[in-house]
Amino acid sequence: MTEYNGKTFGFTSEQLSRLRDLGAKAETLEAQFSGPLMRDANYRQTEQALVTAARSAIKEMLSTGGRPLVEVISETLCELLVSRGLIQVSTPIIMSRARLSRMVLESDPLFYSQVFWLDAKRCLRPMLAPHLYEYMLDLLKLAEGRPFGIFEVGPCFRKESKGSRHASEFTMLNLVEVGLPLDKRLDRLSELVEAILGRLGLKDWRHEEVGSTVYEKTIDIVSCDGLELASCSMGPHPLDEAWGFDGTWLGLGFGLERLAMAAANLDRVSLVSRTLGRIKGIPLKI
Ligand code: ATP
Ligand code: MG
Repeated sequence: MTEYNGKTFGFTSEQLSRLRDLGAKAETLEAQFSGPLMRDANYRQTEQALVTAARSAIKEMLSTGGRPLVEVISETLCELLVSRGLIQVSTPIIMSRARLSRMVLESDPLFYSQVFWLDAKRCLRPMLAPHLYEYMLDLLKLAEGRPFGIFEVGPCFRKESKGSRHASEFTMLNLVEVGLPLDKRLDRLSELVEAILGRLGLKDWRHEEVGSTVYEKTIDIVSCDGLELASCSMGPHPLDEAWGFDGTWLGLGFGLERLAMAAANLDRVSLVSRTLGRIKGIPLKI
């Protein structure tokens, strides 16, 4: 410290970018050193250790196989939900403007500026809910008063200003249960969240009540690091009218990349989102 009058030195932006790419943890990236020589020596050592770890992880996968964490989570949760009697559906990735506009006010500039439009009438779905509403309607007629649950897991698309927690392509798990008594919805919501997060070994999370452009009021599920894992809402709800839906429901929308980040203790969505040049978050160009 004396050498530079107590001034400390962090990694340079080039060093940071390389270390980030190799998957270094936040505490490594934030390290401070008493001088540039010491910093550069530490950088070389850290970089080499990460490269060696990446090489051996890839080598192992070449013989044992491997899958993206989001795919593993998707399969685990689909099995869990189907084993609890919910029906999985798989709806088109292309969504009509007419359906989306039943969920979001056309006048909402924020939301519309986030949608990838294919043409005047169709977009890449930014959410799963409009298609699930349609299934809710069809099944409500056939369920004869029995409660039922449906869910979908699949890609959603939103134009996001860059950030470490947002990807423009991400994977949503949206689940809806219809027909529960009004006073049972909240307990059931907590039970489902606990089952889903518990299945992934996630125990440290909290509820937060927030406003939402789509649902007016939602309950967010937030990790111990303040990462939004899911948003939940309940009906009867003002949106139901546009769909002609009349009944009680509860809905949960999880981001699977966010669940993967929380489960693997990662601070960047890019390590788990759809990508080229990475397997299980490990870079191939090393
Ligand atoms: P945020 O406030 O984090 O931007 P949101 O409230 O806009 O998210 P929702 O519409 O509630 O997102 O979507 C449900 C879930 O999908 C979120 O709780 C989050 O886990 C996930 N999610 C939403 N947008 C993204 C994104 N761009 N990248 C990764 N996950 C996302
Ligand atoms: Mg939300």
